[in-house]
Amino acid sequence: PGPAAVAQKKKPVPTAATASPADIELRITALLGQMTLDEKVGQLNQYSGREVTGPASDRKNTLLSSIRAGQVGSMLNVKGVKDTREIQAVALESRLHIPLLFSLDVIHGYQTTFPIPLAEAASWDLDAIRLGAHVAAKEAAASGIHWTFAPMVDVGRDPRWGRVMEGAGEDPYLGSQIARARVLGFQGEQLGGTDAVMACAKHFAAYGAATAGRDYNAVDISEQQLWETYLPPFRAAANAGVATFMNSFNTLNGIPATGNAYLQRDILKGQWQYPGFVVSDWGSIGEMANWGYAIDKTDAARKAITAGSDMDMESDAYHKSLAQLVQAGQVNISLVDDAVRRILRKKFELGLFDDPYRFSDAKREQQVLADPQNRAAARQMAQKSLVLLKNESATLPLAKTLRRIAVIGPLAKAKRDLNGSWAVNTDTTRITSLYDGLRQRAGKTTELLYAKGCALSGDSHVGFEQAVATAKSADFIVLTVGEAWDMSGEAKSRTDIHLPGMQEKLFKALKATGKPVAVVVFGGRPLIFDTIAEQADAILYAWWPGSEGGTALADVLYGDYNPAGKLPITFPRSVGQIPMAYNQQYNTGRPITKPGETRYKSAYIDSPNTPRYAFGYGLSYTTFTYSGLKISRAAMKAGESVEVSFTLTNTGKFAGEEVAQLYLHDPVASIARPLKELKDFRKISLKPGESKTVTFTIDQDKLAFYNSKLEWAAEPGKFNLLVGSASDDIRLEGALELL
Ligand code: BGC
Repeated sequence: PGPAAVAQKKKPVPTAATASPADIELRITALLGQMTLDEKVGQLNQYSGREVTGPASDRKNTLLSSIRAGQVGSMLNVKGVKDTREIQAVALESRLHIPLLFSLDVIHGYQTTFPIPLAEAASWDLDAIRLGAHVAAKEAAASGIHWTFAPMVDVGRDPRWGRVMEGAGEDPYLGSQIARARVLGFQGEQLGGTDAVMACAKHFAAYGAATAGRDYNAVDISEQQLWETYLPPFRAAANAGVATFMNSFNTLNGIPATGNAYLQRDILKGQWQYPGFVVSDWGSIGEMANWGYAIDKTDAARKAITAGSDMDMESDAYHKSLAQLVQAGQVNISLVDDAVRRILRKKFELGLFDDPYRFSDAKREQQVLADPQNRAAARQMAQKSLVLLKNESATLPLAKTLRRIAVIGPLAKAKRDLNGSWAVNTDTTRITSLYDGLRQRAGKTTELLYAKGCALSGDSHVGFEQAVATAKSADFIVLTVGEAWDMSGEAKSRTDIHLPGMQEKLFKALKATGKPVAVVVFGGRPLIFDTIAEQADAILYAWWPGSEGGTALADVLYGDYNPAGKLPITFPRSVGQIPMAYNQQYNTGRPITKPGETRYKSAYIDSPNTPRYAFGYGLSYTTFTYSGLKISRAAMKAGESVEVSFTLTNTGKFAGEEVAQLYLHDPVASIARPLKELKDFRKISLKPGESKTVTFTIDQDKLAFYNSKLEWAAEPGKFNLLVGSASDDIRLEGALELL
């Protein structure tokens, strides 16, 4: 039997691609009319299904009979054509034959692992980021997945928080652009495409503002911060048509996000008129009782549905209580109907009622997963994500004349670590280590020596001696240091984000040999390293670059690809400086002026007040100059716009790409404004000696901010324009007046 809504109609059923929104609403209404209360609640339940395809167990039996009884709307963690088809067939045995949604955390690749999202953000390359999401979606869709729990669009400004690895960094503007690129990459222009999955903007909202960077912690921030910093990427995702939202584990100013009607009803479904549905985070409905915001799961279920949480991931709270709550008059049926309607709408838009298996068959799965283009895209993305932090006297690229290179460090031959957290596929045979990447590239005339040197953590020197001996016999040292893959990610907050263990000491021992040292740093967050920052000859920040990471690193170390990544998050010098996002800097009230120096009173006396590496920073093998700033007019009226243009020239010897950044400062406003806010950027490719004109358009929207009434408005007056290569490397300045 086919799905009921299909069976009912005699004339040809419109497919997802041809059905008009009005057709879909009619089909939903028809289906809703046939559903019992239990079946309605069933659509709101989501369970993890690792067991459902495993050996016989009580949980497996319970899940299968719930699915057959129409009590489950979605499964997570069931993947692969064989398993998803098998479970979908069970769902189609239910009375109304409503298909399941299969969901999975496809965060940075499915079978082909791309760099972690923070690394991808360092590319500032929206087309490449979109392509990365598209490849992940293509592989996942061919494997029976309909829906990914990505992108995480939480602004992350606290590197102690392990989940900064999953987002796009600290800036709301860059984060919004990337949110849009990722949503379009996963979903395509319209839901229902073959090589696409539904996306999910998470975690709504302000999860990244967890107090002290401790995951799952309470969030207490001003409305101003909420609107200005944390909501914009969600808004951008909604505008890009993201099919779903996920709420969050944290409280926001005292109210759990999952039970937060202000966020979900007033803002998302009210002001933003969002037509998709909201899934809870794992068990977050039940957790409202732990927060002391609900007496028990029943109370939590009532509060969550009332506040606008449509689907219950793994709390089992809706399943257990919602029907009773409706019968007892404690939850209005219209709330349940609305949630069901939102979920069914996505099932129709995806085309699940027309083809519950969504084109997934074993042959296609095999073909898509074996497509070499996927790996090529992952390699390109990895190249683009690498950030060159230091390169004294052109240490890199590696000279062709080098005959013996010592590759040293605890991560030199690492494979699993390169995939980072949230890798759906951890098949280490598919991962190229840095050592292997260099081995393939170095050619026959270059000898590659190896020593581990030390473990990632612990305090043992064993291995130093051998590493130093190896280094002494080489003409160049490539040292790999960093974090283990499971030191960043969910529930991986750290108070100390220095390189762990003896790695800086290993560097010192190697440096003492007098040989040039290039350091490759792996990690899921900004790490702190002092001696390396001061004394290394070159530093390349590799993040977790994915399964093609070793190859991409060899491409960059050998100069086949000129690095162009820029930091999407500030690197502090010490944990004590956190938080220190670039746009949290203000002209504080009281200046201290000494001859030749103006310092503001807000300063540490025991540390420089600058970050180690600023937001937007990253070097290239070539150099770029900025010249000839032109502003099309000095003043603009409301509704007008101004063009800001300048000349960018490649003044070095390598072809390369530069990310030119436009910042703005509103020096006098009704709310004290940060010294710099990113408003636009362009990634420009230039041959040696080549120049290009770069133009930014400034409209009123770029001058606006949320005022104290939370209205988005630009205030008349002067604005400073700053164009540069990094937030702390401004090359051109101008001004503009809004009349
Ligand atoms: C995470 C989500 C994730 C979910 C499902 C939760 O613990 O916070 O980001 O999508 O698990 O795996």
